[in-house]
Amino acid sequence: MAIKRQLQDASTIAIIGAGFIGMEVAASARSLGIATHVMETGPRIMSRSLPAFLADKITELHTSQDNRIHCNAGLKGFNGKDQVTAVEFQDGSELKVDAVIVGIGVTPNTQLAETAGLACDNGILTDARGQTSVPDVYAIGDCAASYLPRYARQQRLESYQNANLQAENVVANILGTHSEYNPVPWLWSDQYHWQIQTLGFPAEAEQWLQRGTLESDRKEIHLGFTGGKLNTVVSIAEGTAAAADVKVLQRLIEMDAQPDTDQLCNPDIKLKALLKQTKN
Ligand SMILES: Cc1cc2nc3c(=O)[nH]c(=O)nc-3n(C[C@H](O)[C@H](O)[C@H](O)COP(=O)(O)OP(=O)(O)OC[C@H]3O[C@@H](n4cnc5c(N)ncnc54)[C@H](O)[C@@H]3O)c2cc1C
Repeated sequence: MAIKRQLQDASTIAIIGAGFIGMEVAASARSLGIATHVMETGPRIMSRSLPAFLADKITELHTSQDNRIHCNAGLKGFNGKDQVTAVEFQDGSELKVDAVIVGIGVTPNTQLAETAGLACDNGILTDARGQTSVPDVYAIGDCAASYLPRYARQQRLESYQNANLQAENVVANILGTHSEYNPVPWLWSDQYHWQIQTLGFPAEAEQWLQRGTLESDRKEIHLGFTGGKLNTVVSIAEGTAAAADVKVLQRLIEMDAQPDTDQLCNPDIKLKALLKQTKN
């Protein structure tokens, strides 16, 4: 609500941080006709969540909408009295802006948990049941660094879906059902009229294949493999054109299925048919 109020009279804004949130805010502000400058200290956008070739693709979509992206931005600070009026760079130059939005990630506040004696390491550590190092104390949501059996590591996940599914898992365990949360993490992001969805951890895939193109199919699906196994996906689509495909791919990864890659990459072959084949 505060951002909406700030944008009402703004003509130029700076967004600090080119992660999912920074890019979404930039897309919304551009759609309102506001000149946007995204400042990223790293060499490219979305480095935590996407491999370089896909980050470049998203950069192209944004620049096609006149969003200006400044990577390797050497920021010094903000100028202004009661309100920010400019962003200052390390070389002494300035960019006049009406507002600045900072979206540079979060650090979990584990102080309460640590004081209570729970083991923490970038979040409250839990097993796959959601239990912390203290029996009968569970942790879920953004603050929980839970053990993910499929990926064999502790990981904090930041999405509504994760918070909800972890809640269901913990409730089952509290009620006495042994239940292990073993997700293929999913998230989506609407930027302009494009929807980006990811499954798994795309920044980590060793090899990529592509199914369809945005230009000819209204959607392109990038399939990421590690050790020859399909384990991550990124779709870029007009609106929700790829939504059903991503659901099927999530199921295939959950099942540890390894469909024929030629078929997987052929947009004329329905993914549902591949799922059916796998089940048989
Ligand atoms: C700008 C933004 C955009 C996002 N967009 C998306 C999106 O599009 N899709 C998506 O899936 N996810 C999105 N997320 C992530 C999503 O909001 C979180 O993953 C989700 O809210 C996590 O739920 P949670 O219950 O763990 O934490 P929260 O929703 O943060 O809730 C934690 C609550 O605990 C309270 N609290 C903290 N400490 C204490 C204490 N000591 N005692 C009592 N209460 C306390 C906090 O005040 C807060 O109300 C977004 C996040 C942000 C910041």
